[in-house]
Amino acid sequence: MALVDYEHALGRVLERIRALPGTTKLQVAPLDAVGLVAASDVTAGDPVPPFDNSAVDGFAVRAADVTSAPVDLEVVATVAAGTDPRVELAAGECARIMTGAVVPHGADAVVMVEDTELVDEAGPGTPRRVRVKRSAVAGDHVRPLGDDLPAGAVGIPAGTELRPAHVGLLATLGRTRVEVRAAPRVGVLSTGDELVEPGRRIGPGQIRDSNRQMLLSLCTAAGFDPVDLGLVADEEAAIERVLQQGASRCDALITSGGVSMGDFDYVKAVLGRIADMDWMQVAIKPAKPFAFGTIGRTPVFGLPGNPVSSLVSFELFARPGLRMLSGHTCTRRVPVTAVAGEDLRRRRDGKVHFVRVWLTNEDGTLLARTTGGQGSHQLAASAAAQGLAVVPDGEGLGRGSRVEVLLLDPAP
Ligand code: AMP
Ligand code: MG
Repeated sequence: MALVDYEHALGRVLERIRALPGTTKLQVAPLDAVGLVAASDVTAGDPVPPFDNSAVDGFAVRAADVTSAPVDLEVVATVAAGTDPRVELAAGECARIMTGAVVPHGADAVVMVEDTELVDEAGPGTPRRVRVKRSAVAGDHVRPLGDDLPAGAVGIPAGTELRPAHVGLLATLGRTRVEVRAAPRVGVLSTGDELVEPGRRIGPGQIRDSNRQMLLSLCTAAGFDPVDLGLVADEEAAIERVLQQGASRCDALITSGGVSMGDFDYVKAVLGRIADMDWMQVAIKPAKPFAFGTIGRTPVFGLPGNPVSSLVSFELFARPGLRMLSGHTCTRRVPVTAVAGEDLRRRRDGKVHFVRVWLTNEDGTLLARTTGGQGSHQLAASAAAQGLAVVPDGEGLGRGSRVEVLLLDPAP
């Protein structure tokens, strides 16, 4: 089978997912919406802010009165935040005003208290005349009505991943519910007769099932809802049963192992029969074998069994694919550009290598260095890594070269 390049392979996944129904929509409280995706635009009913207000503590003035300074003005009112100023300033008048308070009629600028001097007071804390020491122009220190969001503007577009600032914005807009896409329920199974559960003793030839728990927690970290479908033996009937049940109760499935060229790769046999699969050999290392397809309308990601390959394949294919299914408009990791802190040598093999690296900020330069053994079974180096350095085909990159790095969770 010919190797397909990564972008092409991912394109084949995303284009099929776009045609799927995606996850269901529901209404939740903003506090429960963090990490979920807005299912529809959130618009501002009223303008934000709802009135012209002061950005500072000071004096609301008519800019025409203070085109040159110093100038003395008569203080005719005090406007606190949360009150309705029932005054209109006439020429030569000003009002004491607090941050966030309504700018009174007649006023069109605010002078900071630091730029004024008390000339006369009616009593302690009640200014009567004030000297403005610095000239002002209309609009100074005024936060105009609607300058954050005019009425009817889209504050949160559909597809936005909701974060704490959006929760604040929803509160500002007076929303107590927000329409989101449900996190996709992602069923994860692992397969292999050599695998045992972590709590059990391992016998001859056995290893522990690392992938299932890793993939479940990768789903959690990505904001998906993980469903543990268990460790399944290399047995066609058992694999088929778990896949069918999983497809009926989950929004998507992830399998690990059994999709390469081995004699006991029954996942491949079963998926070949019950699913509409696209089997690929991707021009990347690790994670060359990869399959994507659907059982009915449930997408299935067939990830390779080697633990590092499973992890990288999740990052490169399942995470973007499941983000698209969840309605995210941004599906990919944003790469950062770093500098190779050591030689990242490799041989030409027609593949892009994703090297597990640790990033350090040294005098403002982001340096990437490998975290150790890069074999696809060597999970320790992946666990120690912050990112995947993208090393293109060729002889590799020398120390000091620019290198693109895809950050892993949690991104620093
Ligand atoms: P397979 O794709 O099933 O041929 O597996 C490839 C390699 O990954 C073999 O060395 C398997 O033992 C290993 N492997 C497969 N699944 C897992 C798993 N869930 N946890 C740890 N290693 C696995
Ligand atoms: Mg296997």
